[in-house]
Amino acid sequence: MTTAMTTRPAKVDLKKVRNMGIIAHIDAGKTTTSEQVLFFTGQTYKIGNIDEGTTVMDFMELERERGITIGSAATTTEWAGHTINLIDTPGHVDFTAEVERSLRVLDGGVVVLDAVAGVQPQSETVWRQADRHRVPRLVFVNKMDRPGAHFENAVLSIHRRMEANAVPIQVPIGAEGNFQGMVDLITRKAFVYDRPEPALHSETQVPEQLREQVETHRQRLVEKIAETDDDLLLRYIEGVEISNDELVAALRKATIAMKIYPVLCGSALRHRGIHPLLDAAVALLPSPLDVPPVKGVSPKNEQEKLERSTDPAAPLSALAFKVVTDQHVGRLVYIRVYSGTLESGDTVFNPSTRDRERIGRLLRMHADRREEIKSAGAGEIVAAIGLKNVFTGHTLCAVDAPIVLEAIKFPEPVLSVAVEAKTRGDQDKMSQALVRLSDEDPTLRVSTNSESGQIILAGMGELHLDVVVERMRREFKVEAAGGMPRVAYRETISKAAEAQGRFVRQTGGHGQFGDVTLRVEPLERGGGIVFENGISGAVLPKEYFGPIEAGFREAAAGGIMAGYPVVDMKAVLIDGSHHEVDSSEMAFKIAASMAFKAAAAKAAPVLLEPVMRMEVITPAEFLGDVLGDLGSRRATILSMEGTAGTQIVQVYVPLAETFQYATKLRSLTTGRASFVQELHHYAPAPKSTLEKKA
Ligand code: GDP
Repeated sequence: MTTAMTTRPAKVDLKKVRNMGIIAHIDAGKTTTSEQVLFFTGQTYKIGNIDEGTTVMDFMELERERGITIGSAATTTEWAGHTINLIDTPGHVDFTAEVERSLRVLDGGVVVLDAVAGVQPQSETVWRQADRHRVPRLVFVNKMDRPGAHFENAVLSIHRRMEANAVPIQVPIGAEGNFQGMVDLITRKAFVYDRPEPALHSETQVPEQLREQVETHRQRLVEKIAETDDDLLLRYIEGVEISNDELVAALRKATIAMKIYPVLCGSALRHRGIHPLLDAAVALLPSPLDVPPVKGVSPKNEQEKLERSTDPAAPLSALAFKVVTDQHVGRLVYIRVYSGTLESGDTVFNPSTRDRERIGRLLRMHADRREEIKSAGAGEIVAAIGLKNVFTGHTLCAVDAPIVLEAIKFPEPVLSVAVEAKTRGDQDKMSQALVRLSDEDPTLRVSTNSESGQIILAGMGELHLDVVVERMRREFKVEAAGGMPRVAYRETISKAAEAQGRFVRQTGGHGQFGDVTLRVEPLERGGGIVFENGISGAVLPKEYFGPIEAGFREAAAGGIMAGYPVVDMKAVLIDGSHHEVDSSEMAFKIAASMAFKAAAAKAAPVLLEPVMRMEVITPAEFLGDVLGDLGSRRATILSMEGTAGTQIVQVYVPLAETFQYATKLRSLTTGRASFVQELHHYAPAPKSTLEKKA
């Protein structure tokens, strides 16, 4: 990879920037589609200028190009005079946090679906995530060449499962082995892939046999667009012709407002449908100017809400969304600039660490090279070198106009595993590797068990932790083995109770005196830990309130019955007394901890276990076996749905019962079923769980 220094035009035309991601679950073709996007954008010139018969793009060369993988969290490329920042989004739900952070920084997305399967359970998960982040999107129905591919069914599955207004803007020409291209419904242009070079197309008339279908679908599209705009609707009803430009402009508006999700088709593997997809991304997806101002709060006072609009002249606000260690340049921090301009050499403020940071070099990452740049303005995405203390989710802002942008939410780990290095040599390397990996991955926690001295990894699931061990082996040459995974239980209480904690030592010399009464009350799931002060300074000197809260929080983190952190509970300080001479902050801290333990023990404590929402997709013939096995895992069936020989079972299942499920499911169904799961909620664990722990 080479790094070239460029002097860029002083002003980037933000209207011509697309920060977009390709969103899909594993296997839908996200990688293939992304590679094709990079291939086509890198080759625009060549493809656009090929004169049939004189220039022939070598198929082998194209195949080789497929080797470009998106090694970067954001790859910058160009299409039709627009800058496209392609933001990498991982497909597996075990890495939901990764998807979340990509969705935070992109303005628009392309959802890739499999034309045979349509919307699959996992596509639902990514779709909902995109909904939550309000990401406008196009849908690319991929794999139109596969046996069983059916464009209209795929579109119907979006209506049915997502209840989304998905509207085709193309009609495929043929399907399966006979998939030849597509017709653009707005322009009525047909793209037919009929050349010896597989990535090239001819622009033709709509094939005779499709004319009627194209007109019907076009009519429907126009109607759908008109429905989103009163003025157009009126003209449509009156039968006034609406021009193509007007249609595109209105469709763009409707797409950005998420009133319409335009649907396209293609086959990434066969290089078909990629150029219309890129054209649609440019025409319909939002630019940084089309998205609402970014929101944040003042670092001094979280109640003070702040906003920054996409303006390069405004004070700087930017979000670090990914940290990676690059083998050539070291620690790279990917940053989206929301307002103002980030310049190399600038000093900026990081409100999370309260540090000032100096911006070193700034890089723009392309598929095949890095470009060093001097500055990046609002709406742009760059990578910075030389930021040591900036982590994923941190805000960078102007020193004199501080703001904290809404943090990226990362879930707490649900599972932990002890890892052991094979040899002493591996041990040292392992520590280094884990520092690096946890630097990059905010959902991975590394700690040392104080009793056994073992290294404990905590993360989002079995697969997540397996991948960490595997990455240590491959990237850091560390041989390490993981033990049995352990569930991250929680504890809570199920009724209110009060107790007094008295810490009194008054034997000779300076004594200790602290006296605290706490009432504990259960909160709803997800309520966390709340401390409330119910007394005034007249009852107890104010200086002891802080230590009392700290003592309570520390004790709650240590658990009631089995040492797991307590959640969903409120403690109210309701009484206390002090001694003029012997009271100290320490004494009140200990008294609060004693009061909490005594109160919680009387408050019917329970152990909570993580419960996963799991979806199993199995051929119907194995349904009985799959259900039987799920039954033995304490699963609660939520729904069963059948489509053409395939059954989709949705269940809640305790995480503790899911270990090795992948292996079991494979053997039950000769490898023909698949499943996905993610943390759904915490629920009381059976009594026997606690007995086993004790
Ligand atoms: P990802 O897991 O979503 O990144 O999916 P990949 O891009 O790795 O594709 C998954 C599998 O589907 C691979 O075997 C691809 O070769 C295949 N695939 C991707 N696109 C197409 C397509 O358009 N047609 C067909 N038949 N297979 C495809």
